Amino acid sequence: MAAYDPQTKLFKAVGHPARLAILDVLRDGEACVCHMETALGYRQAYISQHLMVLRDAGLVQDRRDGWNIFYSVINPGVFDVLSAAQSATGSHGAPRTHSRKIENCPCPHCNPVAEAAAC
Ligand SMILES: [Zn+2]
Repeated sequence: MAAYDPQTKLFKAVGHPARLAILDVLRDGEACVCHMETALGYRQAYISQHLMVLRDAGLVQDRRDGWNIFYSVINPGVFDVLSAAQSATGSHGAPRTHSRKIENCPCPHCNPVAEAAAC
């Protein structure tokens, strides 16, 4: 049933709470690891590990800008899948309290005036 391989790959990739949470952050646009750290309260190594799974599955891409690496979703269609899963389960995951900018976040998007520091 190779015809289902791409879909199976997608569901396997998103089938983890940390990866669903990361994708929820990426709904707002590209983000670096330190932003996800602030938004989600996970450790950097943990986030990086899950970003690698999402990247290997072809769901996210990274872009280096100076010291920072920004991650973004390649095909926004994945958000439709997440929204459908939320609708089908009546569960919306964590409350989306994070806005585009988070106070006290060290990332260059939240603090553009701060001296650019690596995540
Ligand atoms: Zn930030």
